[in-house]
Amino acid sequence: MSTDPKIMVVEDEERIRSFLLKGLSYDGYDVQVAEDGKSALHLFEEYRPDLILLDVMLPGMDGLDVCRRIRETSNIPILMLTAKEAIEDRVAGLDAGADDYLIKPFALNELQARIRALLRRAPTTPPQIFKFGNLELDTGTRRGRRGDFTFDLTIKEYELLELFMRNPRNVLKRDQIYDKVWGYDFGRDSNIIEVYVRYLRQKTEQGDMSRLIHTIRGVGYVMREEEDAAEIIE
Ligand code: CA
Repeated sequence: MSTDPKIMVVEDEERIRSFLLKGLSYDGYDVQVAEDGKSALHLFEEYRPDLILLDVMLPGMDGLDVCRRIRETSNIPILMLTAKEAIEDRVAGLDAGADDYLIKPFALNELQARIRALLRRAPTTPPQIFKFGNLELDTGTRRGRRGDFTFDLTIKEYELLELFMRNPRNVLKRDQIYDKVWGYDFGRDSNIIEVYVRYLRQKTEQGDMSRLIHTIRGVGYVMREEEDAAEIIE
C-alpha cells in the first residue's frame, strides 16, 4: 500500500484533469480523478484522500455543494479551483468550507506550494466518520451508530469494524483480517474472528436491523447490504 499523500482531483475539463493528474503524479502524490460531483462523493468514500482539489463549476452538483457535503463528515483539506475572480465566488467557496482557493488559470508551481502548505497544516489523522448504509463509525470518538442506536466498541471490535468500513463490499479473507487486526503472531486456528464478528453483529443489528457483516463460507467476511448479496451463504 502506498504511503504517498493521496489527492483527489475533481474537474470536468479533460485537459485540466490530465494536466493535474500528470503534474501531481510526477511530484510523487497518489492521484485519483473524478469528473463530476456525484462521482467525487463516491470516490471520496472509497479512496479516502488526504486532500481534495475541487473545481467549482461542475455539471450537475457543483463544487460548492460537493464541499458542503464532504464537510458534514470530514475536515480534510479542500482547495477550490475557480474560474472566476469575483470576490463573492471566493467567499462562497470559503463559506462552503474550503480551506483555500486558486483562480484559473494558475501556475503549477503555485498549486504545488498551496498543496504542500495544506498538507503540512492537516493533522496526521483527522477524525473521520465512515458511513455504510445507515451505519456510521466515528474515528474520533471510536463509537459506532446505526439508525437511532449508538454503541461503544472495544479496541479490537473497533479495529475490525473500521477494517470492514474501509473496504465496503470487498470480501476480506480470514488471513487478511488476522494480519490487520491481530497481527501475524496470532494463532490462526482460533475462532477469534468469529467471536468478534458475533460481537459486532450484536451491536450493529440492534432493533432488528438487517445484517451487514456476512460470512463467506471457507473464505472470510464481507460488509454489504443484503440486496446485493444474493450469492452469500450464511
Ligand atoms: Ca469546470
